Amino acid sequence: MECPYCHSPKLDVVNSRKNAREQFVWRRRRCQECGLAFTTHERFFLDDLVIVRGTNKKTYPYHSSELLAKVSHACDHLHSVDKTVWLVRTIETSFMQHVTPLKDKLVINEGILHKSVLAVLSGYDKVSAIKYAAQENIPFEV
Ligand SMILES: [Zn+2]
Repeated sequence: MECPYCHSPKLDVVNSRKNAREQFVWRRRRCQECGLAFTTHERFFLDDLVIVRGTNKKTYPYHSSELLAKVSHACDHLHSVDKTVWLVRTIETSFMQHVTPLKDKLVINEGILHKSVLAVLSGYDKVSAIKYAAQENIPFEV
């Protein structure tokens, strides 16, 4: 980590808060060189996760940005990018308990992934859940 303004590596953490529900740590840092402060968020990164799909158990890499695009499309009537980002974080936190290790990867079943998305979306906005189900061609009961 270095200062985004002057690129100095000499930083102090002046405040820190843990958000257990969304599993991230918020930190306020101040640069010892230029004196400017900035905020960082520290959270898990799902770069080792693969999705298992269908009866042939074919695997595909999971991309947080792909889920963000799908959820953004399902929530486009809400006109809130911030809410969409928060929804994706909430979805990822909710399906983490169903992730299982396989060799050097982490695996999630596509059906469980869809269930997590629908549970979070329907708790927030039913129309978004219906739109997501239609996009993905999966069943959803209102
Ligand atoms: Zn600096």
